[in-house]
Amino acid sequence: HAKSQGRSNFQHFDPALEQFALQYLSIENKLREALEQSHLEIHFQPQVNLSNLEFSSVEALIRWKDDNGKYISPMTFIPVAEQAGLINEISNWVFHQSCQQIVYWRSLGLSPVTISINLSPRELLDTHLPQRLQHILQEYGISGEHFELEITETMFLEDIKFVKKVLSRIRALNISIAIDDFGTGYSSLRYLQQLPIDTLKIDKSFVLHLMDNPQDAAIANSIISLGKNLGIKVVAEGVENLSTSLYLKEQGCDLAQGFFYHRPTCAEKITSLLLHQHSANNTHIQGMLAE
Ligand code: C2E
Ligand code: MG
Ligand code: MG
Ligand code: MG
Repeated sequence: HAKSQGRSNFQHFDPALEQFALQYLSIENKLREALEQSHLEIHFQPQVNLSNLEFSSVEALIRWKDDNGKYISPMTFIPVAEQAGLINEISNWVFHQSCQQIVYWRSLGLSPVTISINLSPRELLDTHLPQRLQHILQEYGISGEHFELEITETMFLEDIKFVKKVLSRIRALNISIAIDDFGTGYSSLRYLQQLPIDTLKIDKSFVLHLMDNPQDAAIANSIISLGKNLGIKVVAEGVENLSTSLYLKEQGCDLAQGFFYHRPTCAEKITSLLLHQHSANNTHIQGMLAE
């Protein structure tokens, strides 16, 4: 009986699904390998200040270089990492790498830099997260002020009291909290008031075509006003052209991120951008002192 049942189940098995499952398993195995053999990299994308286009914060964006040296998108492998229970390990790795960067930039005498790190929704349900973060900070001897965690509105669907507790413990380490992809998920304005939120990131879907689409512009403007009225910083993501940049500045948006300013790039390039910015500023200050 069991055998015939098994066979009938097999017949119902969708070949497309099987193909998908196989692909998924191979990604999972390769991802474990990549983690062990350090085939993962972090790229950083500057968040520019719209008043002078300089930056003192960057977003950490993970990259996976496959055997052919091609980058695999985090959109492909982060969901697999979540399913496979590898996401904590990946996040720990991102956090360690980011701490090393902060220590390095500090050793060069650069002005303090903040790194924004993306968290998967599930990680926020881990009671040990704040303690893990605290330990890593202690290990490198740096303050939480150098970090911001990006979470998504999906979190608002969870036990909100629990989320509030975890976020408050993270906030107590001086780590900031940003809501990523704001406007695309489950927004409850009440939670903006109740949770310790420092930053709203306008989702790029509202920004990419902002100049051609008045409805996108209306939504972006509303988020900027919301942030202003609540005392929450606003970052626009996905700025690809000058007109969008000028528009956002005029609307009073604080920071912006996008290909128009800088693509996500390796740590070395970010270091040289920071050094360049630093020396340009010093020349400027020396000029003022000489006057
Ligand atoms: P996100 O956090 O919303 O990151 C912004 C995405 O927009 C990045 O894609 C970035 O490369 C891209 N982007 C930046 N500027 C522009 C622009 O001007 N135009 C366009 N079209 N795109 C722009 P990326 O690097 O492929 O990352 C995709 C997503 O993967 C991220 O979305 C984030 O949710 C996730 N992710 C990346 N790194 C990590 C990580 O370390 N941990 C976790 N849990 N998730 C990560
Ligand atoms: Mg992000
Ligand atoms: Mg985003
Ligand atoms: Mg996004």
